[in-house]
Amino acid sequence: MLRLTDLTRTLQRWQAEHASVVDAANSINLQRLGWLAPLVALVNAVHVLVLGGQLWMGQHAGLALAWRAGLLLAHLAMGLAMLGCAVALRYAGSSAWRVWLPAGTAGIGMLFAVVIVTIDQWVTPNVTPFLISCLLIGVVFYSRPLRSALLYLLAFVSYFYALSLTQGNPEQLFSNRLNGITACLLGWALTVLMWRHFTTITRQQWQLAEVNAALQDRQTELEHLSSRDGLTGLFNRHTFVALTEQELARARRHASATTLLLLDLDYFKRINDSHGHPAGDAVLRHVAALLRDTVRGTDLVGRLGGEEFIVLLPDTSAEAARVLAEKLRQRVAAQPLVWQELTIPTSVSIGLSAATPEHPASFEGLYSDADSALYEAKKRGRNQVV
Ligand code: GH3
Ligand code: MG
Ligand code: MG
Repeated sequence: MLRLTDLTRTLQRWQAEHASVVDAANSINLQRLGWLAPLVALVNAVHVLVLGGQLWMGQHAGLALAWRAGLLLAHLAMGLAMLGCAVALRYAGSSAWRVWLPAGTAGIGMLFAVVIVTIDQWVTPNVTPFLISCLLIGVVFYSRPLRSALLYLLAFVSYFYALSLTQGNPEQLFSNRLNGITACLLGWALTVLMWRHFTTITRQQWQLAEVNAALQDRQTELEHLSSRDGLTGLFNRHTFVALTEQELARARRHASATTLLLLDLDYFKRINDSHGHPAGDAVLRHVAALLRDTVRGTDLVGRLGGEEFIVLLPDTSAEAARVLAEKLRQRVAAQPLVWQELTIPTSVSIGLSAATPEHPASFEGLYSDADSALYEAKKRGRNQVV
């Protein structure tokens, strides 16, 4: 009883898995049909030519003639059918036709094999074409187990009756019918094996792609996190320094000016002391947003730590930077943070330093100059640019 429920569960799981890969399987079937149909048409054309040549020379009569003529007609019909398949494939677009083309071709292939071995029985008990057809269809087309079972069953039934039309020897007939069962069972087993293999591989590929995409997202997220300051989302010190070094090197090559602004909130300790650290944090975020919204997209804004911010202005002269610094200072002073119904005024002191083509500088040099200027701004009474 337990075994039976296990089996039902496995079959249900397989069914769901099979349904999920049907479209993928069909597009591969169509791809294969794309080269198989012309190839089979070509093979049939060769048969038609050889048989036609023999008939034309007119050396055969009676059964031998009928056999050759039958084969020629069968190959001609099959060749035309495969050409038709190739043309249909080209013009079928995305219609429902496409879904049925591989199944239809497999059916035509089986029918052709039955016709060929039936004609062959006139002169030979050989059923190799039927065996080849059963195996080839199992290998070339991906098909769901129940559907392919139906195909092989129909093929066997037609094979069973068709052989009796031309095979008069009861022992030969019996032996060929037995061989037909083997061919159909082998072909079907092959189809099922190929299908299960395809299903497993395809689903594993999808899972891998999903895991890869998730990893990629996670990596992007980690890269973002590792380059940003957790409180304000601005560049952290490490990233800011690296980006600034790159920018200074570029500025040296292009002989352009670069300016650095170092900003420090005035009497920030008092905000923490009077309203608590959460209020201080909110002020830091507020000032960070003001900075980000005021500068250009190409400028770099970072938080060095504590209540110190840093802004790099590429391709900007000291004069132009001074105008921007003044604008920043005024904005911070004019737009106090409203936090939990409290208005928290704040101001900022700014030290400015510049690298010019005549006086290039490293980050350390620029930073040290801006720091001295900032110290001077504090000394002169804060809320100003030096
Ligand atoms: P000055 O005008 O001279 O710059 O005075 P100040 O009070 O701003 O200077 P000080 O450097 O003495 O104080 C900086 C304060 O910033 C001290 C520290 O408690 C606070 N602080 C540093 N990092 C953070 C933070 O992430 N959040 C909060 N809320 N406060 C911070
Ligand atoms: Mg300060
Ligand atoms: Mg400070």
